[in-house]
Amino acid sequence: MQQPLNRLIILGGGTAGWMAAAAMSHQLRGTQVRIQLVESSAVGTVGVGEATLPGLRNFNASLGIDERAFIRATNATFKLGIRFEGWAGQSSDIFHPFSDYGAPIAGTPFHQWFYRARALGLDVGALHEYSFSAMLAGQQRFAQPHAEPGNPLADYKYAFHFDATAYAAFLRHYAEARGVERVDDRLTSVVKDPANGHIQALKLESGLELAGDFFIDCSGFRSLLLGEALSVPFEDWSHWLPVDGAYAVAAEPAPVLRPYTRAIARDGGWQWQIPLQHRTGNGSVFASRFIDESRVVEDLMAGLEGAATGSPNRIRFVTGRRQKFWEKNCVALGLASGFLEPLESTSIALIQTGLSRLLMFLPLAGIDAAEVEEANRTARIEMERIRDFLILHYCRNGRQGDLWEYCRNMPLPDSLAQKIALFESRGHLQQRELESFEPASWLTFYEGFGVAPCQPDPAVLNASPDDIARALASMRSQIASAANQPLSHAAFIARHCAA
Ligand SMILES: Cc1cc2nc3c(=O)[nH]c(=O)nc-3n(C[C@H](O)[C@H](O)[C@H](O)COP(=O)(O)OP(=O)(O)OC[C@H]3O[C@@H](n4cnc5c(N)ncnc54)[C@H](O)[C@@H]3O)c2cc1C
Repeated sequence: MQQPLNRLIILGGGTAGWMAAAAMSHQLRGTQVRIQLVESSAVGTVGVGEATLPGLRNFNASLGIDERAFIRATNATFKLGIRFEGWAGQSSDIFHPFSDYGAPIAGTPFHQWFYRARALGLDVGALHEYSFSAMLAGQQRFAQPHAEPGNPLADYKYAFHFDATAYAAFLRHYAEARGVERVDDRLTSVVKDPANGHIQALKLESGLELAGDFFIDCSGFRSLLLGEALSVPFEDWSHWLPVDGAYAVAAEPAPVLRPYTRAIARDGGWQWQIPLQHRTGNGSVFASRFIDESRVVEDLMAGLEGAATGSPNRIRFVTGRRQKFWEKNCVALGLASGFLEPLESTSIALIQTGLSRLLMFLPLAGIDAAEVEEANRTARIEMERIRDFLILHYCRNGRQGDLWEYCRNMPLPDSLAQKIALFESRGHLQQRELESFEPASWLTFYEGFGVAPCQPDPAVLNASPDDIARALASMRSQIASAANQPLSHAAFIARHCAA
C-alpha cells in the first residue's frame, strides 16, 4: 500500500480495542488521521482479564494517565507477584515475584552463590527470602519501590489487579476526548480490494459501510479480520498448553486484601483468585479432556473465600496464535491474535507490546514489506518465549492426576528443552531476544520444581564457605527487616487510592 494513512479503523471495544484507541489517539494527535472504533454492544466482550504485568504502568504513564486516578477508577489493587499453590506437589507453594533475587557477589549472579552454599550444606533458607517483594507479599504488605541507587535488594516492580470493564470504560473516555469516534454496530462482512486483497471497508448491520486505509482487529477469539477475512491460519498449541476452558465468577472480597494473585492447582487445571477493592475475581481453568466440567464448577464454588455474587460464566478457548500478527493492511491485537491461557496474565501485556510494535512500524506513508516482516518475526518470537515459560509451569509439576501426568510426559519444544538443559548443567539462566520473563522468573520455577544445576559455576568454586554464608545471611536479614516496615496492602490503598 503506498497511500498515506488517513483513516484508521479498530474493530472491537474490549480491553484490546480501547487500549489501541487510547494509544493511537495519543500517538496521532495533531495529525489528520481519523480514528474510528466499531464495537457491538449486542456481542459484548469476553469479560475477564483482571491481572496484569508491571509493563502496564509504562503504558498508562506513556498516555499521561495518573496512576492513582487509574487505581480509583478501576477498583484496582497492587500485585507483587503470583502465589502458585500445589503445583510442585499437593501442599507446595511457589511465589513468583516481579523482582530479582538477592544481589550479585563479585560480579557473579546471586543464584550461583545460593546453589553453591546449598551444595556446601549451609543453611541458605528459601529462595523467596531473598526477594523483598516476595517477603512483603507474604505479610500482605505493600510499598512502592524507592529508587535507592546501589541497593539492588530494594529493586522490584509491581503490577495491578483491576476491573477490566472499568479499565475499558476509562480508556474509552480518554480516547473519545481525543477524537476517536465510536460506532456501536455489528460487522456483517468485509469488502476487499480484488487487486491486492487488502481490506477496503467494513459493512455493518445498520447498512453503514466504513472505509479505511488500515485496520486493527481487536474482535476477540473469532479474529474476524485477520483470521476470517484475511485467512491467516491459527496455530494450535493445545498439545503443549492443554487447558481449553474456564468458569469465572465474582465473589465478595476476601477477608485479607492480598497484594498478589493466587493460582491454585486443581485436578484438571487450576483456579485463580484475584483481589480487587470491591470484589474478588475467581475462575477455574480446565482441560476438558481430563476432567468433567461439573467437577470444575463444584471445585470452583467450594474454593471461594467470599460469597459468590453471580453464577459462573463459561468461556471456551483454544491455546495458540495466528501465524501472523500483520497481514496486508491489518494487524491483530488481543484475543484476535491468539491466546496462551490465563496463567501469568500475559494477554494484556501482549496487547501492549503489540501496540508498541505497531507504533514503531505504523504505515503513515504506506506499508513497507521489510517492516511487516520484522513486526511478524518479533511478534512470533515473543509469543514462543512466553509459551515456553508457561509450559515450564506444567512440565515439571509434582501432582497426581491425568492432566498432570500428561504434562510431565509431553514432548517439549526444543527451545524450552535446551533452556532447561542449560540450567541443569551449570545454572545458566539464558536471556534470549524478546523474553518477556526475566531470568529471576525462570529461576523461581526451576527452584520451585526442584530443577537444579549439576555442577557449580567455576566462579564460586574457590570462595570460602564462611564468606558465602555471611553474604547470604546479610542479604536475608536486610530484606526481612525492611519487609516488616511498610503498611498492610489494605491500609496503603485506604490511605492513598481507595476507589
Ligand atoms: C479465562 C480467561 C482469563 C483471562 N485472564 C487474564 C488475565 O488475568 N490477565 C490478562 O492479561 N489477560 C487475561 N485474559 C485475556 C484477556 O481477557 C484479554 O486479553 C482481554 O480481555 C482482551 O480481549 P479482547 O479485547 O481481545 O477481546 P474481547 O473482550 O472479546 O472484545 C472483542 C470485541 O469485539 C467486538 N466484536 C466481536 N464481534 C463483533 C462484530 N461482529 N461486530 C462488531 N464488534 C464485534 C465485541 O463487541 C468486543 O467489543 C483472560 C482470558 C480468558 C479467556
